[in-house]
Amino acid sequence: MTYLNTIDFAKSLDEQDPLKAFRSKFFIPQHEGKDTVYFTGNSLGLQPKSTASYIQQELNDWAQYGVEGHFHAKHPWLSYHEIFPKLLSPIVGALEEELVVMNQLTVNLHLLMVSFYRPTQQRYKIICEAKAFPSDQYALESQVKFHGYAYEEAVVEVAPREGEHTIRLEDILSTVEQHRDSVALVLFGGVNYYTGQLFDMPTITQAAHKAGAICGFDLAHAAGNVELKLHDWEVDFACWCSYKYLNSGPGGVSGAFVHQKHIANDSLQRFAGWWGYKKADRFKMDKGFEPIPTAEGWQLSNAPVLSMAAHKASLDIFEEAGFDRLIAKGKLLSGYLHFVLNGINESQTAKAIEIITPTNEAERGCQVSMLMLKDGKQLFDELMRQGVIADWREPNVIRVAPVPLYNSFEDVWKFGNIISGLIG
Ligand SMILES: *Cc1c(COP(=O)(O)O)cnc(C)c1O
Repeated sequence: MTYLNTIDFAKSLDEQDPLKAFRSKFFIPQHEGKDTVYFTGNSLGLQPKSTASYIQQELNDWAQYGVEGHFHAKHPWLSYHEIFPKLLSPIVGALEEELVVMNQLTVNLHLLMVSFYRPTQQRYKIICEAKAFPSDQYALESQVKFHGYAYEEAVVEVAPREGEHTIRLEDILSTVEQHRDSVALVLFGGVNYYTGQLFDMPTITQAAHKAGAICGFDLAHAAGNVELKLHDWEVDFACWCSYKYLNSGPGGVSGAFVHQKHIANDSLQRFAGWWGYKKADRFKMDKGFEPIPTAEGWQLSNAPVLSMAAHKASLDIFEEAGFDRLIAKGKLLSGYLHFVLNGINESQTAKAIEIITPTNEAERGCQVSMLMLKDGKQLFDELMRQGVIADWREPNVIRVAPVPLYNSFEDVWKFGNIISGLIG
């Protein structure tokens, strides 16, 4: 694709976009009576216009049936969560039995580590990315402490090299190799939240397994953003939130994946609750926990139906759009953003922006992280005043994510036009 930085070109791409009708399925936040350029779908996805009616359905059923809604609601609450594996399976590349929607992301990370971080005297280390999302860092720290280790003793961080922003695959692989006798778990983000770097998950998984370790991923910034094949890659476990690219509302429910090879292994340690108990006998309330032999066996509590209704509203839109088509548009859209920003940079005598997200399409999703070389915060504040919703990360990074479901090529052009006005 040869791009041009003109509004007519952007509009013509929008015209040809097979997914253009999907933008009107979302509420676009307004600024002075006009649509904002909403580039923070990586942080909180927009609200589908259909969400209210999905939640209203459950409120109506609750009003009409009370407790009987567990059986008689349009989507009976007893089995409400069973709707999701089919909808999520094309998005994360998993078998239905490997998927469950429950709790929230950090909670699921802990629950899965209870099963999959089982340190022994010989193998106790966790290899992870340096500058992981803070919640993940705290989760790791508290997990290793829970098992009696100090952070520095048990957690090995792989960092970018001096003067670089992203982590080299070869450095991840050599770290795993170097700790091959002592590593218990390799745990990475699928896409780093700060730089937008997409890690080579199949290769990392292979390396972890070769070293005799378990491999898990936090897919908060990957689910709904990039192609995933968790089953085929033989990832052991993964979890993600639903409120970023998956548009399911603030604090929405999380998804979890446990590979087929582990789901029926009831010798795995886990923290259990009644909703993970084998379904036929759940209500007998017998002593002795017997897990459902699917990812559902990790559930603790009954389904939070109201937030799950919001999740369903969004996933039904993903199904209608088709995930392959979304990925294809996402690549064009972020390719266009890279083109526009690079053009602006080249027109400057001194470079004002350094893009720290990899340019290689195989190493990124929608997000572009811009390291601002001067007056970054001022520029960011000015963007917000001109109706761009972006995200500021200390000390000097602006993150933007044009997402294929509701962002347009015109959004990208507008953004570039505003930026060049500000730094020109
Ligand atoms: C957004 C995000 C979280 C947030 O965790 P919650 O439990 O949903 O509050 C955690 N980890 C990563 C990598 C994230 O991007």
